[in-house]
Amino acid sequence: MYKHILLAVDFSANTENIVARAVKMVNQHSAKLSLVHILDNIPMPDTSYGTIISLGDESDNALLEQEKTKLNALGEKLSVPENQRWLIWGTPKDEITTLAAQESVDLIVIGSHARHGLALLLGSTASGVLHHAPCDLLAVRLPHE
Ligand code: AMP
Repeated sequence: MYKHILLAVDFSANTENIVARAVKMVNQHSAKLSLVHILDNIPMPDTSYGTIISLGDESDNALLEQEKTKLNALGEKLSVPENQRWLIWGTPKDEITTLAAQESVDLIVIGSHARHGLALLLGSTASGVLHHAPCDLLAVRLPHE
């Protein structure tokens, strides 16, 4: 039985597929669900908590506010309490695995695209997480976008 499931979302077109699988696992295991979104494409926001971004405080950074809104909307939809919604600045594979260890997560749910050519060489978030994860990983196979 899994007790604490961490769902990693990048809000790309296939997010719904991954969310659906995570919700199924949460229901089957009566597990607690946490959400994480890593900010990897904006400059580090001003924050008093290191790289963890508070979802409560408003900033004048429009991009950051957009990401907060998306994470909060998904959190509300899935009834995930605010203290289990994580918005963190950094590199997805590192921050996801660090958070999983800190929060005693026992299953990470993540999307995985079939890759070819250069993309295969560059690697994916899922394979990066797999190499460092402190727990089990469910890689949900995604269609090409
Ligand atoms: P990628 O390898 O970048 O195509 O991402 C595959 C999966 O990794 C996504 O479906 C998400 O589950 C997760 N992921 C990628 N980027 C992020 C991010 N910035 N924050 C949270 N999860 C992410």
